[in-house]
Amino acid sequence: MRHKIKDKKPMDRAAIALVLCFSVVALASVFTVKSSLDKINLSDNNNINVPQSNQPEERSVTKQVPTVDSKDNPQSNTQNENKNSSNSSAWVAPVDGLITLEYSTELPIYSKTLNQYMVHNGIDIAAPLDSRVQAAAAGTVVETYKDDRLGYTVKINHGNGFITTYSNLSDSAVVEAGDVVKKGDIIGGIGDTSLFESSDESHLHFEMQKDDKLVNPSDYIKF
Ligand SMILES: [Zn+2]
Repeated sequence: MRHKIKDKKPMDRAAIALVLCFSVVALASVFTVKSSLDKINLSDNNNINVPQSNQPEERSVTKQVPTVDSKDNPQSNTQNENKNSSNSSAWVAPVDGLITLEYSTELPIYSKTLNQYMVHNGIDIAAPLDSRVQAAAAGTVVETYKDDRLGYTVKINHGNGFITTYSNLSDSAVVEAGDVVKKGDIIGGIGDTSLFESSDESHLHFEMQKDDKLVNPSDYIKF
């Protein structure tokens, strides 16, 4: 019995020692796993937070664009357009139509009417007779006159050095010098008053100046 008891006690001690060892190992492993997990979590959080904090913000912004902020964004766009009224974004095509003769102040291009190559200080936009011609941007009518070559013409000063000229209009005057116009206001109708371009199809001859220099209207206006 003693032997058995003595035998059992060492066994118990061994078992206890084993259990202790296991528990220590288990605790140690738990701690290490925990700490490593914490590190991983921390690092993961850091890693995740940095890109995710950016991505969700961007996503939330882009998500808000079509949904919550959909009302605000057009306003901001129009505000931008208004702010850029002196720039290109506030311009509108004076007539709906295709460009039939491009702006070309350096390279002469062929003129049907004159049967010769010549520079073209503006663009020709095809449009049927009597089509409404609108102001390309807000401004003040500087003068209306009949140009010997380009026919009945309206000139509008938009400020910031921009002047637009609308030629080959019909004789019936719609605006006169001093009139203040908004973008899109009707300033006349397509005519056939241009002697220089009379053989070309019905069109508007449209010129644009910036700081007293001719510029290509296509650089500012979408046609
Ligand atoms: Zn022309």
